Parts: sequence; C-alpha cells; structure tokens
Amino acid sequence: MFIIWGSKNDVKTERTLGYSVCPNCGYNTEKVLAKEKFKFTLFFIPIISVTKKRGICCPECGMYKELSSAEYKELLERQ
Ligand SMILES: [Zn+2]
Repeated sequence: MFIIWGSKNDVKTERTLGYSVCPNCGYNTEKVLAKEKFKFTLFFIPIISVTKKRGICCPECGMYKELSSAEYKELLERQ
C-alpha cells in the first residue's frame, strides 16, 4: 500500500488596507493583510494547517512585514 503525503505553503489574502507608499520599493501600492500557512497533506487532503506568519504584504516588490497576532487582529477588524 502506498501512502502519499506532502506539504505546501499557502498564502491567504484576508483584506486590503488601502494605498500607501512602500518603505522598500517606494511605490504607492495597495497593501494587503496576508497569512502564510503551512499545510501537511495526506492523499492530497490537508490534515494539519499551521499559521506560520501573518503580516502586511506589498504586491509590488513582495516585501512582507511580519506582525504579531494581536497587531494583525487589530488591522483585520479596523474599518
Ligand atoms: Zn514594495
């Protein structure tokens, strides 16, 4: 019997934060709040999902500013 297992990283965009100038690339881009998850799969079904990091991402240069879960939650709930 074969057991097929694997793992993958998944980035989930949760909301946009509006436009601001990126400190890294200097472009005025729309920043997004994103979570990076690590998934362990068995027969292509995700069994374990662990949030590796959360933060603000710049879609222009890919800069990722890591946030604590409290900071992330605050930004997520802010209107
Ligand atoms: Zn940038």
